[in-house]
Amino acid sequence: MKIATPLVAWQRAQGRHGLPWQQTRDPYRVWLSEIMLQQTQVTAVIPYYQKFLMRFPDVESLARACSQEVMAHWAGLGYYARARNLHACAQQILQNWSGRFPPDAAGLATLPGIGPSTAAAIAAFCYAERAAILDGNVKRVLARYFAIDGDPTTRAIEQKLWQLARDEVPTAVQLKRDPMMMTAFTQGLMDLGATVCTRARPQCQACPLSKGCTAFAQGRTEELPWPRAKKTLPERSVGMLIACNRGKVLLQQRPDTGIWGGLWSLPEFDSALDGGDGCTQLGVSAQNIVSLSAFLHVFTHYRLTIQPVLARATTTHLIPVAEKITIQTKWVPITELSALGMPAPVRKLLDGLHADKLLN
Ligand code: SF4
Repeated sequence: MKIATPLVAWQRAQGRHGLPWQQTRDPYRVWLSEIMLQQTQVTAVIPYYQKFLMRFPDVESLARACSQEVMAHWAGLGYYARARNLHACAQQILQNWSGRFPPDAAGLATLPGIGPSTAAAIAAFCYAERAAILDGNVKRVLARYFAIDGDPTTRAIEQKLWQLARDEVPTAVQLKRDPMMMTAFTQGLMDLGATVCTRARPQCQACPLSKGCTAFAQGRTEELPWPRAKKTLPERSVGMLIACNRGKVLLQQRPDTGIWGGLWSLPEFDSALDGGDGCTQLGVSAQNIVSLSAFLHVFTHYRLTIQPVLARATTTHLIPVAEKITIQTKWVPITELSALGMPAPVRKLLDGLHADKLLN
């Protein structure tokens, strides 16, 4: 049984209709929401989306902004490569597409940070194009509906799911009869995965697809889709220096590529060193050097133990002994920290110290 007809009827009657990005077919707004929603919950995205749009109301204002300001508006949403790609994408649209988004999924997919599923979603919502999406939620729905065994993150299973996703898109005949069906179908897949066919305890009794769902019929909804094969994440550790001098904190801008790329963070030193040697390695003259409680931050690919060290710098002059101190290092007044794009764990650390008045 094809899923389009029952899914579209359900979406129109019971799906989500009040999300801020659903009231428009403006590709800029739809694109922004799709990028923010990758790996992030709707409730977390809404305030960021609204604030971002107030500052960057269109693709041109975003393209012309400095990367620091873009990162500052993104800080806290995580997965910062998305923000870097967002900015690069806006600049390419301005330079190569005369400020207008490409008019179809194929063109959209050539831009930075826009994969085939995101391109299809934008094209479906903005241009009613007949294009299939396959994000994490949709993979789950299809893997259950068709009882697909195997890890969906592997290439073979993913290809199979893409084929099913394409097969289930409304037909050209259906779309001729009902041109807005593509929007409702795409939104319906997203809504179903987010609210009914959830990872834990799917609400099959309330599902518009339950009549044709193989996992439901076979009582296999708990075991499908297969979980991703577990990998042991490598462990790393680093020392972070919180050097203060007269109400200012020493910060370093991360390189554009890699973890936390482009964000302002604390200078790092070898975790094998104690705080005093860490200051020396970074070229900071300091006293009152205190090690704070270490904490763990888990990235997708590794686990990082951060050992913060608080120190009172005796001067803002940095001894040029270490490569780690570069022109991207600066002393920032504590009152101005909130305006900078910073990694969430670093901001949390500094906020905690500021609240405890240790930074004053
Ligand atoms: S019947 Fe259950 S498992 Fe099947 S698609 Fe619906 S919610 Fe998911």
